[in-house]
Amino acid sequence: MTSTLRTPTTSATTNVMHAAVVTGFGEPLQVENLDLPTPGYGEVLVKLETSGVCHTDLHAAHGDWPVKPTPPFVPGHEGCGTVVALGDGVDDLKVGDKVGNAWLWSACGRCEYCRTGWETLCESQRNGGYTVNGSFGSFMLVEAAHAARIPEGADPLEVAPILCAGVTVYKGLKVTDTRPGQWVAISGIGGLGHIAVQYARAMGLRVVAVDIDDTKLALATRLGAEVVVNARTADVVAEVQKATGGVHGVLVTAVHPQAFGQAIGLARRGGTIVFIGLPPGEFPAPIFEIVLKGLTIRGSIVGTRQDMAEALDFYARGLIHPTVHSARLEDINDVFARMEAGQIDGRIVIDYR
Ligand code: NAD
Ligand code: ZN
Ligand code: ZN
Repeated sequence: MTSTLRTPTTSATTNVMHAAVVTGFGEPLQVENLDLPTPGYGEVLVKLETSGVCHTDLHAAHGDWPVKPTPPFVPGHEGCGTVVALGDGVDDLKVGDKVGNAWLWSACGRCEYCRTGWETLCESQRNGGYTVNGSFGSFMLVEAAHAARIPEGADPLEVAPILCAGVTVYKGLKVTDTRPGQWVAISGIGGLGHIAVQYARAMGLRVVAVDIDDTKLALATRLGAEVVVNARTADVVAEVQKATGGVHGVLVTAVHPQAFGQAIGLARRGGTIVFIGLPPGEFPAPIFEIVLKGLTIRGSIVGTRQDMAEALDFYARGLIHPTVHSARLEDINDVFARMEAGQIDGRIVIDYR
């Protein structure tokens, strides 16, 4: 241990941690012992209680995207735990505070994007569980300035999915530019989508849910969706147009490119379609329809620290209750297999306690 570990605690007196490590793309994760990291300037060491498993972690482990992480690395960006040691220069967190990591692990704070409230677009950002080791381990580092502050009394299993799924869909819904009373279609009712239904309802929107699995649609109905359509067995565009006259906003969280092309047909004139899901691939975009209907199509990536604070505040006020199932870190490969098969209802959260 170096002098930066200036606050010894029982939990930080160990020199090792265990973590699920990606050693090669597409290979099973290895649960192994790693040296406990030392918090650098502005960083804190966190003992994890829980971590949600996001589909992004699966994309990361498969090397699905053009910009790839470098194995070996530890995925996970919905981690929730307790601060056990402070690096130098940390003056707004103390040992014992509850914090979380996030995809936006840090941003430069100086570039045009950071200066204008778009730190999520910072080109110097670091990403939890991708370019910095994440929360699939018993300990993790976070940057104090960017760590999510977990509200008092939060249930560690329930709050974990807010740290990525929650903030992402909350921000995504905001940028649909919809207003209370208007229709929003949520395509993909998985970890992100089932939480999106809840934020949409809390924001006063009327919800259409689309998925390819009736179990997910049943969950959406229980959470307050007024219209549900199975994209595998029904003509989604016709059904949604018939039920709503076209929705004002669409949020695509699905993990298949087919849902992206389809989303364009769901919108009414002047509508906004927000892409959040990140399956590898492309989709056809009909130029005539987009132009004549005056549609806006935009991407949205996680949320800023302010979006995170707001998303957590919705949770703290009892408006959002992610459906969670707990698992052990050792089960991570099985969790990924179930995620790939679309067999998870809500979110699986690793419980380290
Ligand atoms: P998930 O596996 O929990 O859910 C995916 C859902 O998509 C499942 O319910 C599945 O049945 C559904 N689906 C599959 N094909 C479909 C189709 N053709 N039409 C409609 N639904 C379909 O995944 P998740 O954790 O919710 O993540 C979803 C996606 O969002 C992933 O690609 C992930 O990387 C991405 N993501 C993006 C951001 C961002 O900031 N933009 C943040 C987090 C996750
Ligand atoms: Zn995520
Ligand atoms: Zn920046």
